[in-house]
Amino acid sequence: SYRKGGYHAVRVGDQFNGGRYVAQRKLGWGEFSTVWLAYDTTTSTYVALKIQKSAAQFAQAALHEIAILSSIAEGDPMHSKCVVRLIDHFKHAGPNGQHQCMVLEFLGDSLLRLIKYNRYKGLKLNKVREICKCILIGLDYLHRELGIIHTDLKPENILLCNTIDPAKDPVRAGLTPILERPEGNLKGGATMTLVEKKLKRRARKAVAKISLRRESMGGVELPKSERNLDGIDVKCKVVDFGNGCWANKQFAEEIQTRQYRAPEVILRSGYSYSVDMWSFACTAFELATGDMLFAPKVGQGFSEDEDHLALMMELLGKMPRKVAIGGARSKDFFDRHGDLKRIRRLKFWPLDKILIDRYKFSETDAREFAEFLCPIFDFAPEKRPTTQQCLQHPWINGSTSNQSEMKNKSKVEKVNVGMSNHQIKVGK
Ligand code: ADP
Ligand code: MG
Repeated sequence: SYRKGGYHAVRVGDQFNGGRYVAQRKLGWGEFSTVWLAYDTTTSTYVALKIQKSAAQFAQAALHEIAILSSIAEGDPMHSKCVVRLIDHFKHAGPNGQHQCMVLEFLGDSLLRLIKYNRYKGLKLNKVREICKCILIGLDYLHRELGIIHTDLKPENILLCNTIDPAKDPVRAGLTPILERPEGNLKGGATMTLVEKKLKRRARKAVAKISLRRESMGGVELPKSERNLDGIDVKCKVVDFGNGCWANKQFAEEIQTRQYRAPEVILRSGYSYSVDMWSFACTAFELATGDMLFAPKVGQGFSEDEDHLALMMELLGKMPRKVAIGGARSKDFFDRHGDLKRIRRLKFWPLDKILIDRYKFSETDAREFAEFLCPIFDFAPEKRPTTQQCLQHPWINGSTSNQSEMKNKSKVEKVNVGMSNHQIKVGK
């Protein structure tokens, strides 16, 4: 993708926006962009520099993201709203075209990476609670104050705040600013012999393998003891507004990443803020257990969408007929009684029981966590609690008895994730 219209190739020491930002190292990438740690020579801080692919549709998408991020930054002068802050934006001309660039505050690991570090065993409930609180504060700001729907909330798109400020404590962060391109890097190996090149490639492969799980916390490699988050304040922020929209100005019918997608999106019944609440609850479950709540698959005689709806009903009970038949695509899945056409005999397995049976939660923890999540998983979008209501819930406030930690988490084979048991269907 490093061609005309695609990514901009960056080298350590490259300068941006008239020399203000100096590239340090790559932090990550997405479908539309690469993201680099950069040193801001004006403020002497580290920032994340998101460099969009150059083709027209990507530039357009970046301008949209910049518009949303600008309104987010405008309404949050104290930076207290748990949403990523846009610092600057500009265009950068390179061999592949003109690239829209966004300068964002530098954040750390995503929650997905945190779950991986924890070997998919789930985080302690107190940490889950802290993280949930942050996400809710972020969503509350977006929904209530700005009228914005994120539409792609998931663990990947929530980043931890850095516990070490690399500008103040560069030694601990393992960073000192690189302000020029390092010599020798320029030729990119043109002087190497073939054998040397091969060896180097092999070495790089080996390193890549080892470091798969040990990718750094964006420039800041956390000590192991901090990875399990014991004794640290868990603050995080919502990122990636590439798919965000205003509730009264929607663009796409199909939104959200599959596993975090709300039923009304599958059914095409129209959507609003409450789609983010659905994804939020899926994310909370995943943080607490290490498993995705819904992981639908295509099967013989039914589609991924149908499997997804069946999984939802096995967890939450039958979808009310009115909801089931109310969408533009309802007829693809449901008969007129509101039963799935191709998947019958669902096996009901409610959330509190899953938490106890599969994840060895104590009865109290399971009940209280399920009491928090289940109302959010209402099939009727307008009945789901709002961010405000969730923030007032006893489970979030800590006024429940479940301040005890999850015990006995050694558990449980990771059998097939999404609780798929229903696969008894009638042919068609
Ligand atoms: P895309 O829209 O192309 O998917 P994202 O905004 O999701 O791009 O960013 C891609 C990746 O870059 C993220 O998954 C994350 O690893 C990293 N990243 C993005 N923003 C930041 C940030 N503010 N601080 C640190 N890393 C970031
Ligand atoms: Mg992304």
